[in-house]
Amino acid sequence: MNIVKKNWLRIAAIALFLAILCLSPLPSFAKVLTPDWSYQGETNPQNWGKLTRDFATCEIGKKQSPIDIVGAVKGKPVQMVFNYQASPVEIVNNGHSIQVNYAPGGTIDIDGTAYSLLQFHFHTPSEHQIAGKTAAMELHLVHRDAAGKLAVVGVMINAGKENPAIAKIWNAIPPTGKTNPIDSDNFDITNLLPLHKSYYSYAGSLTTPPCSEGVNWAVLTEPITVSQAQIRKFEQLYPIDARPVQLTNTRKIELHETL
Ligand SMILES: [Zn+2]
Repeated sequence: MNIVKKNWLRIAAIALFLAILCLSPLPSFAKVLTPDWSYQGETNPQNWGKLTRDFATCEIGKKQSPIDIVGAVKGKPVQMVFNYQASPVEIVNNGHSIQVNYAPGGTIDIDGTAYSLLQFHFHTPSEHQIAGKTAAMELHLVHRDAAGKLAVVGVMINAGKENPAIAKIWNAIPPTGKTNPIDSDNFDITNLLPLHKSYYSYAGSLTTPPCSEGVNWAVLTEPITVSQAQIRKFEQLYPIDARPVQLTNTRKIELHETL
């Protein structure tokens, strides 16, 4: 084979390789791997477990969240210490909710284990019920410990006084699929917590696909408030982003009260 022919073959091979790269349906490929899910329509929560094998736990799991918090037994006094600090945040409108990513630094301590705050997000109406009662919204603070175990703190949100910390977030919500930093000063998550920190605990799951279990849940008994207008502003973007309550099965719910 002469040099010219060899070079020509090499160029043809590279061209073919590039053509295959360009033609390969990467976006739809990704879609097959993680199918879209939603709260209404065909891909609503009743069908999550059927969308892909990766979401099977949504259907067959026995420790799913959220639940109706009822019949709690008295547990140890509060074993949760909040060590949050004001941090830079970025707001993500991810198509399922408004999520606020928190820069590393904030931790909570549950029974002597430190969990770092990763992000918080909102649901409307609330996902958990307390004695059958649904709140207007629910805040979820998602934490992870060094071993990768998740702990989520749930805070019920009722209609009431306007919430300045929420206003700061709502004013910076980007379009769907986009991320926005709150670039003024750092955000102090403690402004989104109620005064009293009594909570219900139980073993549950993520409330969105893949509904993975092994999540430590702590739902605070005291709600916070946002104004009716603030609820409406969220509902205009996400009219419903709450999974219905799941069976409690044999799980124990404990109430941990502040001393
Ligand atoms: Zn959530």
